[in-house]
Amino acid sequence: MRELGQPTYRADQLSRHYFGRLTDSPDEMTDLPADARDALAAALLPRLLTAERELTCDGGTTRKTVWRAADGAYLESVLMRYPGRVTSCVSSQAGCGMACPFCATGQAGLTRNLSTAEIVTQVVAGARALARGEMAGGPGRVSNVVFMGMGEPLANYTSVIAAVRRLTDPVPQGLGISQRSVTVSTVGLAPAISKLAAEKLSVRLAVSLHAPDDELRDELVPVNRRWQVAEVLDAAWGYAAATGRRVSIEYAMIRDVNDQAWRADALARLLAGRLAHVNLIPLNPTPGSRWTASDPQVAAEFEARLADRGIPVTVRDTRGREIDGACGQLAAASKADDSLRSG
Ligand code: SAH
Repeated sequence: MRELGQPTYRADQLSRHYFGRLTDSPDEMTDLPADARDALAAALLPRLLTAERELTCDGGTTRKTVWRAADGAYLESVLMRYPGRVTSCVSSQAGCGMACPFCATGQAGLTRNLSTAEIVTQVVAGARALARGEMAGGPGRVSNVVFMGMGEPLANYTSVIAAVRRLTDPVPQGLGISQRSVTVSTVGLAPAISKLAAEKLSVRLAVSLHAPDDELRDELVPVNRRWQVAEVLDAAWGYAAATGRRVSIEYAMIRDVNDQAWRADALARLLAGRLAHVNLIPLNPTPGSRWTASDPQVAAEFEARLADRGIPVTVRDTRGREIDGACGQLAAASKADDSLRSG
């Protein structure tokens, strides 16, 4: 503000517009001098992401946005309304470098890390749409944020942690979402999990395990060759001890690949007595993949074996399938469209 020749309290005013009233449009900033509004908004709240496409399904309660960043990078976010809560699923990177073979984003590779503001903006845009009643079910608020869009959040550590603080600090510093309602999901970058444990945040940690044994996990989550199951889980238990929060173990059920009864038993042994909860995800097949979702009966048996051994387990719902907004489907088809146009 000083550089712009303005009194410093304008920073607070502008922050209240952005995080409190969810606006970045100068016309609505009537408490700012009319001759300074445009310049202030342009300098401090530049438009970072432009909605390229918006797709809805599930009766208007799921909405996917394909964003184009200033440098042309594509990313996606999904807003999901449930009874009593609205979850914003955000991207932390454009693309992803983790190369998990069952994930659409993993196939496309990493374009770049997103900035803190590019992450926060995805949630603010959803909050704005909800506040204006643009989503089925009437006006509402974003209550939950999950870093389960494109990218590996812990590979963009600094920006993601800063984004968590902006999302969870109260207005005017942030959006005022509860830390407990934010989930950081990771392939298992063990040192970064330990670092996260030391941040003194109470966000939920989700670990995408997908296999209890290193032999299979090396294939499903290639970074496992660097940090193996035991090391990843050690870091996760460190996180649980530091925060008192139950770790969510994500497990995509892939037919005849990781859904055998013996693997359920092996998983139960790994988690016995731990502060953990298993979230089974029916695999969402990606185009060209040789894999498909487990047979429902096999999945039910897998779930029952965990439950019988005292492991809390739930099956994740699969929102957004028709709009490629379900987990692992965020491949930003626009990128492909662009290369077709230019190619
Ligand atoms: N990179 C982070 C966060 C993004 S992926 C991570 O891996 O956790 C969010 C979740 O969707 C992860 O659990 C991931 O394994 C899962 N996922 C990816 N592709 C999927 C697919 N095709 N079907 C079901 N789940 C998938």
